[in-house]
Amino acid sequence: AKKSGRNTFAFYEQHMDEEAQRTLSIEHDLRSALDGNQLRLVYQPQISADNGKITAIEALLRWDHPLDGPIPPDEFIPHAEETGLIIPIGRWVMAEACKAAKAIQDLGLPPIKVCVNLSTRQFDDPALISHIEEAIETSGLDPRWLELEITESMLMRDMSTAIDILNSIKQKGISLAIDDFGTGYSSLSYLKKMPVDLLKIDRSFLQDIPSDRDNMAITSTIIAMTKQLGLSVVAEGVENQAQMAFLNRNQCTLMQGYLISQPVSLTQFTSNYTDCQHF
Ligand code: C2E
Ligand code: CA
Ligand code: CA
Ligand code: CA
Repeated sequence: AKKSGRNTFAFYEQHMDEEAQRTLSIEHDLRSALDGNQLRLVYQPQISADNGKITAIEALLRWDHPLDGPIPPDEFIPHAEETGLIIPIGRWVMAEACKAAKAIQDLGLPPIKVCVNLSTRQFDDPALISHIEEAIETSGLDPRWLELEITESMLMRDMSTAIDILNSIKQKGISLAIDDFGTGYSSLSYLKKMPVDLLKIDRSFLQDIPSDRDNMAITSTIIAMTKQLGLSVVAEGVENQAQMAFLNRNQCTLMQGYLISQPVSLTQFTSNYTDCQHF
C-alpha cells in the first residue's frame, strides 16, 4: 500500500509540474501576444428591437496564437488575471475600443457606444482611472460613448470602495453596466446603492425560452425590476425569433446575440453599418 501511495504521489507531483509548466508557458505566450500584435478585438452590436437601430457595440477580445490558432477569451483571461497580465491587456483593450468608436464617428456614421469588459483585477487596480483617461484622451472619444461592463462579484466584496470607484467613473460621463446579471448570488439591495445605468441579463436565462417557465419568470421579473429602478436592460445571447418575441412582449427592447449578429471585425462592422445603419 505504501508503494502505491508513493507512486500516486509521484504521479501527482509530476502532474503539478505539468500544470506549473503550462501556466509558465501561457504566461510567456501571453506576453508575446501583447507585444506581437496577436490580440485583436471583435465587436458585437446591440440593437434596439423597436426600430432596429444599433445602440452600442461590445468589444470582445480574441487571441490568434501563432501555433495553437485562435484561443477563446474564457480560456486565456483567467490566466491573464492570475499573472496580472490582464492589466496591460485591459489597458490595450480600452484604448483600442475607444479608437474604434471614434473611427466610426469620424466616418460620419451615427455615434454608438462602445462597451468594454472589465476584469476583477482591473477593477482593483489603482491605475484603472488613469488608464481610462488615457484611452479617452488618446482616442479623442467623448466619454459618454464609453460604457464599462462590470460583474456583481466586483461590487460585493467591499461596497463602499466599489461605490467610490464607480462614482469616479460616472463623473467622467462614462456609463456603467452590470454584466451577466442574475448569476452573481448578490443581494438585490446593492442595486439601488450602485451608480449603474444598465443591466445585462445573462444569456443562461434566455435558454429554452419559450419552453422553460422558470427562465421566463426570471427574465420577465428582471426586466420589470429594471423599469421600476429606472435602469436600462439588455438581453444577451438572443439566438432565435421566439426569444426575441418573448423579450418584445416583456418590453425588453435592447438585444444582443447571434440572431442579430456574431461578433465581427471593426472593418466588417463598419461596412455593415454603412450599408444599413441598422440590422
Ligand atoms: P461576456 O462579456 O458575457 O460576452 C458575451 C459572450 O457571449 C461572448 O463570448 C459572445 O461572443 C457570446 N455570445 C454573443 N451572442 C451569443 C449568442 O447568441 N449565443 C451564445 N451562445 N453566445 C453568444 P466571448 O467573445 O467568447 O467572450 C467570453 C467572455 O470573455 C466574455 O463574456 C467576457 O466575460 C470575457 N471577455 C471577452 N473580452 C474581454 C475583454 O476584453 N476583457 C475582459 N476582462 N473580459 C473579456
Ligand atoms: Ca460583457
Ligand atoms: Ca455577459
Ligand atoms: Ca461573462
